[in-house]
Amino acid sequence: MNRSEFIKKCAALGIGLPVASFLLQSCDDDITSPDFQVNFSGKVVIIGAGAAGMMAGYLLHRHNIDFEILEAAPIIGGRIKRIKDFADFPIDLGAEWIHDNPDILARLIRDPEVKASVDVITYNPQTIHRAKEDGTSKINWASSFYSEYKFKSTTWFGFFEKYIANDIMDKITLDAPVTEIDYNNDKVIVKHSGGMTKEADKVLVTIPVKRLQDEAIAFTPDLPTEKTDAINSIEMGDGLKVFIEFKERFYPDVLLFGNFIEAVTSDSKTYYDAAFGKDATKNVLGLFAINENAAPFTGLDSDQEIVDAVLAELDDLFEGKATKNYVKHVVQNWSKEPHIGGSYSYTFENNTEETMDTLLKPVNDKVYFAGEAMSKYAQATVHGAALSSYEVVEKMLSSG
Ligand SMILES: Cc1cc2nc3c(=O)[nH]c(=O)nc-3n(C[C@H](O)[C@H](O)[C@H](O)COP(=O)(O)OP(=O)(O)OC[C@H]3O[C@@H](n4cnc5c(N)ncnc54)[C@H](O)[C@@H]3O)c2cc1C
Repeated sequence: MNRSEFIKKCAALGIGLPVASFLLQSCDDDITSPDFQVNFSGKVVIIGAGAAGMMAGYLLHRHNIDFEILEAAPIIGGRIKRIKDFADFPIDLGAEWIHDNPDILARLIRDPEVKASVDVITYNPQTIHRAKEDGTSKINWASSFYSEYKFKSTTWFGFFEKYIANDIMDKITLDAPVTEIDYNNDKVIVKHSGGMTKEADKVLVTIPVKRLQDEAIAFTPDLPTEKTDAINSIEMGDGLKVFIEFKERFYPDVLLFGNFIEAVTSDSKTYYDAAFGKDATKNVLGLFAINENAAPFTGLDSDQEIVDAVLAELDDLFEGKATKNYVKHVVQNWSKEPHIGGSYSYTFENNTEETMDTLLKPVNDKVYFAGEAMSKYAQATVHGAALSSYEVVEKMLSSG
């Protein structure tokens, strides 16, 4: 495993490299006076209202470009998703950790007029256990390897809702799955919601790479082979989160599977105190699992079967305390989300700069791609997805 893979896998688990600062500072960069020439004044249709799609809309809005966003789901956010009323703090059902210096939040907003105020906590769990055949063992020494950040009283969804989506909500059409993009002629024709069409000068596709691989959108003409080969070389595995409220807290801050190195470097599965560092009175345990470790759960027929399997596993590890203390649960099976289909891009067969350039390359200067899998900066993360839109929107507007 090379260094970038190691960092990526650490990030996936919520384990980060130490960083210097954790204050959210304002940022002097103003995207309305970019150092590139805006040569484009047509209309853009963005497909998908996840982090990448919303950020693209935010940027186009700031540049006074005509645009609209078509989102297949009945809600915005994609893999950032929040549940507000499960506990006495909002919970991230998808992305949860800030896998970078929290200054990244101000860099995403990039507007000196906006005085962003977001409470961020250092995520430094102290009690760390490892699962064994017959219980758990303490590996608290591993706490010195944790240096990560989380929102204190909001979520990734709350952050985007407040600072990014607020001004562009009227440009988003929900329940509008795009099925076809025809870029054969001067105008691009986007077909959605069983036959309705939109016309644009350029389109930006931000749907999950799994959905591109599943050919959820038919392109006319077909995408170039080098593009589809690059798309198909990305792996996006299964993904699951479960949150359970318990009457009593019987679990450590973090419970890992495998030895510490395996837990960091192999497909992750972690139980963690979701209330860690929050102003919370409820005991809420989270389960985060991806790829091979998620598949045994995500393949089950119902959320009830998933939570039964989780409780059985916890009962084995904690002498029946899970069932005894169970109050309620919420399951988010990302593999079964119809417009997502899994967790996030993980490994590439051929993870080279060349592959990334091919992924990001616009087709005929009309069809552009962004999203977490296309992020040169930080694949598999929220900020990486959003930053991919910074890069693509700049390319789009400067190309004319
Ligand atoms: C379980 C889990 C935990 C994670 N943890 C973290 C974390 O702690 N920190 C972190 O930084 N990142 C984390 N991530 C990754 C992060 O959530 C993603 O990288 C990021 O949110 C992806 O944003 P995106 O805009 O690229 O894609 P998405 O959020 O998937 O947005 C794509 C949008 O396109 C829509 N769409 C799909 N098909 C169509 C269509 N045909 N027509 C119209 N719309 C369509 C989808 O409904 C979706 O809204 C996690 C992800 C998962 C699943």
